[in-house]
Amino acid sequence: TPLVKKQTSIPVALYGGRHAVTMLPGSGIGPELMTYVKNVFRYAGAPVDFQIVDIDPKSDDKKELEYAITSIRRNGVAIKGNIETKSESAEVRSRNVAIRNELDLFVNVLHCKSFPGVPARQKDIDIMIIRQNTEGEYAMLEHESVCGVVESMKVVTHSNSERVARWAFDYAKRMGRKKVTTIHKANIMKLSDGLFLETSRRIAKEYPDIEHNDMIIDNCCMQLVSKPHQFDVMIMTNLYGSIVSNVVCGLIGGAGLLCGKNYGDHYAIFEPGTRNTGTAIAGKNIANPVAMLNAAVAMLEHLGHTKHAKLIENAIIQTICHDNIRTQDIGGTNSSTDVVQAIIDHILQADVRPW
Ligand code: ATP
Repeated sequence: TPLVKKQTSIPVALYGGRHAVTMLPGSGIGPELMTYVKNVFRYAGAPVDFQIVDIDPKSDDKKELEYAITSIRRNGVAIKGNIETKSESAEVRSRNVAIRNELDLFVNVLHCKSFPGVPARQKDIDIMIIRQNTEGEYAMLEHESVCGVVESMKVVTHSNSERVARWAFDYAKRMGRKKVTTIHKANIMKLSDGLFLETSRRIAKEYPDIEHNDMIIDNCCMQLVSKPHQFDVMIMTNLYGSIVSNVVCGLIGGAGLLCGKNYGDHYAIFEPGTRNTGTAIAGKNIANPVAMLNAAVAMLEHLGHTKHAKLIENAIIQTICHDNIRTQDIGGTNSSTDVVQAIIDHILQADVRPW
């Protein structure tokens, strides 16, 4: 029997149709981006109440992390900035990874779609990157076996490879996509990547309407830069997913545009696609608010508030693609708050209101 029969369960709305959502502002530009989300939601009348959980990057107090995880378990959904890991000590683990692992958010989805009119290295890109999100090189099993020799374990399991492959093919089918490409390095990592590749080939046979091929990660990076339009849906293990996501975001306009969606069977977390902290640009009113706002739109879609999602999405597109109101990272001259204000103005002027 298939390991995944359904995709992530949707939390039931509270009294009055409102949803409670955990908000983890994180570090760097995270808190200011969350302020924009709250403002935009207020003007759009989005029926969401945020439960804010701050995590201090300097502290390794386990209570904060436990509180965040408990809150997400209760609400089912979170929006999140990147939580910096200040310590380089092997003892202090990334709380971003801990949250994803603890909640078994085994798949990360990044829909890389070009924004018409926004300056980019490649135009008309429409690629779905589906990444295994909880194991592989992020198993965090590293040790110094003898002095001067460090070992780091990459863990690939049959069950997680199967879950992510099935999720990807189901998603491709639901979204009407035509082709899935598995990215790997099975010529060198014959057992680990070999298992991932072999599993995706086996699952592909259950979806005869979707073409399946595979590509070695190094060639994939070259092909993405030179001929990206050959890709439709891509699936890969954790670290390749991180690198490939950053390459594709770079092709279409950088870290400030796209959102990333993390799903398990029970919970979902929405965040900027490339998971940056942006410490160097924090507090300067220059960070692009769009990636976090797109994460908020994806969260509304997930909760079934599709009209509110569309209203905000249209306002974003009007602002950055038609009015050319953009931050510096995508070739503009506007501040973060200029962009947010223009989005709010479009929401207020919209003909169709969800309420
Ligand atoms: P740190 O994590 O310590 O902040 P970093 O070099 O790893 O430093 P990231 O935060 O990972 O930097 O971000 C990578 C790049 O993307 C930086 O140049 C950052 O300014 C840029 N960036 C990230 N998010 C945004 C955003 N929302 N708007 C504009 N630029 C962004």
